[in-house]
Amino acid sequence: MKTLNTPIPPGGTIGIIGGGQLGRMLAMAAARLGMKTCIYNDAPDAPAFQVTDRSFAAPYDDLEKLAAFADACDAVTFEFENLPAHAIAHLADRVPVRPGAHALAITQDRLSEKTFVERLGLKTAPFFDVTSAGQAREAFAKLGGRGIIKTRRFGYDGKGQAKVASADEAVKAFESFKGAPAILEGFVDFEYEASVVAARGADGAFAAYDPPANEHENHILRRSTVPSPLSSAQVTGAKEIAQAIGKALDYVGVFAVELFVGKDGALLVNEIAPRVHNTGHWTIEACACSQFEQHIRAVAGWPLGDPARHADAVMENIIGAEVDAWEALAKTGALHLYGKAESRLGRKMGHITRLKPLTKP
Ligand code: AMP
Repeated sequence: MKTLNTPIPPGGTIGIIGGGQLGRMLAMAAARLGMKTCIYNDAPDAPAFQVTDRSFAAPYDDLEKLAAFADACDAVTFEFENLPAHAIAHLADRVPVRPGAHALAITQDRLSEKTFVERLGLKTAPFFDVTSAGQAREAFAKLGGRGIIKTRRFGYDGKGQAKVASADEAVKAFESFKGAPAILEGFVDFEYEASVVAARGADGAFAAYDPPANEHENHILRRSTVPSPLSSAQVTGAKEIAQAIGKALDYVGVFAVELFVGKDGALLVNEIAPRVHNTGHWTIEACACSQFEQHIRAVAGWPLGDPARHADAVMENIIGAEVDAWEALAKTGALHLYGKAESRLGRKMGHITRLKPLTKP
């Protein structure tokens, strides 16, 4: 078993599980620091394979391939957090894994995540465990109003969730999950959504980026804007929420806390993402140290970089066929394309960040 008591020096290899655009941007940030990457993905055409030193294309539960991957790396991290627990344990027996198995286990499951957040004294939407049709009915009665039912695991971009306005709808939605355990959450009539992207170093150091306001369309992030309308007291509160979560998870690396901003100004935790996050892409152009570099620094045991923002920024995702307008888009901002061969409906093909002079430090 390799251990990590000192920083991984330049020339070392960071292993990344998952080869999508997040893995691709992590590999590019690692290269800037003189580090190598080795990317593991379950399909051979991963966007990150185009920019990495080494790669493995094998299923996420192929223990032999995971062991060979671990042997090739000085530390392993994730852009895709839904690896089975036994596969994470298999890696962790061989190589330092950052963030650790405990943080991944809590954040992989909406019930354990929300319970953890509540125990920290932070606010969330009311939530109930639903493992049967009867429980779905009972939970809706307790909620006493509109809700959202969500599978506990493997949901993303609105998949595995449904809005429900009656007990019958709650039962029907639960049954459409084909037996997958779920939670029923109260519907939050929020003013807008925001997120904090933050990092915790191996030494416990903490750094948070300014929280952007986030707009979704068809359950997919459309736009992140900094500065957000949050007051400076709310910004401090949001960063403190992230700090409390990072500490309690003994987290190493970058993570995001998605928030609902209530009409009364309250900050409710919706979700914790144990990885770099789409709402932090603007940090590449608007901060001295991007979320991707920050994550590589934390995983490698380096000092964290400065998260200060030196510009206002709007980041927009380029989704599906919108990418066909790449030439026109290239004239209007900092364009990032992810090297995906085919555009499909709802697929994130790239993003564009437009900067303006700093208005609110
Ligand atoms: P999630 O997969 O939990 O991040 O949810 C995806 C999106 O659905 C969020 O970004 C919100 O726009 C919306 N949403 C999720 N949960 C709730 C809730 N309890 N109340 C209102 N909207 C929600």
